[in-house]
Amino acid sequence: MVHHTNCPLCSSGDLNFHLTCRDHFLTGEPFDLYKCGSCNFVFTQDHPGEKEAVLYYDSSDYISHDASAKGFTTALYRLARRIMLARKRRLIIRLTGRTTGDLLDIGAGSGHFAGAMKEAGWNVTGIEPVKKAADYASSQFGIRMLDPAQIGHLPDRSFDCVTLWHVLEHLHDPFTYASEILRVLRPGGKCIIALPDSLSYDAGYYREHWAAYDVPRHLWHFTPGTFSFFAERAGFSLMATEDLPFDVFYISFLSEKYRGTNLPLITGVINGLRFYLAALFRRKGASSLMYILKSKAD
Ligand SMILES: [Zn+2]
Repeated sequence: MVHHTNCPLCSSGDLNFHLTCRDHFLTGEPFDLYKCGSCNFVFTQDHPGEKEAVLYYDSSDYISHDASAKGFTTALYRLARRIMLARKRRLIIRLTGRTTGDLLDIGAGSGHFAGAMKEAGWNVTGIEPVKKAADYASSQFGIRMLDPAQIGHLPDRSFDCVTLWHVLEHLHDPFTYASEILRVLRPGGKCIIALPDSLSYDAGYYREHWAAYDVPRHLWHFTPGTFSFFAERAGFSLMATEDLPFDVFYISFLSEKYRGTNLPLITGVINGLRFYLAALFRRKGASSLMYILKSKAD
């Protein structure tokens, strides 16, 4: 277990209990979230260390919705994924100003995003610790997959874009990764980091049942404020923040399931729509956000 006596973000010792969540996905164990009184950063306290953490990923479910899965929810999920993949591809072309280039996807999972970018003509490298997922990505999409330990072997200034789709919140050493990302980015390169927002409408509504707390796999529970502080400290400059609009439906469905609702899909879609519209009209509070970064040195 890793016990934080100081804030992992600003090193303050002013840490306060925030909320108890459960590992609804796998073990049912409780984990406490703590909040820093100085910078407001929320993190999972007493979480498994990097080696033990592997046990909390030990389920075939985590390789999300693999090719053999069937059913209505899976069909919906696949449709949303297709729309999101197309949106991400357009976003990367717009942000980098390039139609092709070198892309590093950290936490590539089973490689759907990496595969979509490869199909669009990009040279894609993926990093993924779960071997089963990495094998799927390389056999299914032909992606060059590396183990996280190999990130240090990638040459300096070799990527136009680095992406982390819902990955940074899982990393035990986010500052180390940040400096590796800055090292491998070419001048003018962009980094895109997608994260749940623990100040979103759905987080406020579901509280300890909010699926995007996902303890103990999620170690850090960023908000736009704490993320921009992290980015600044890590050597990035934050260029823009954009919503990831579809995440709220899946998160609401899972959260309804975790709090024991009878018809989680229907309730999740109805509530997801409420949160989606609230975030759309008020231009804040979306379930997940994409942060677009470049090196401070650029
Ligand atoms: Zn702090």
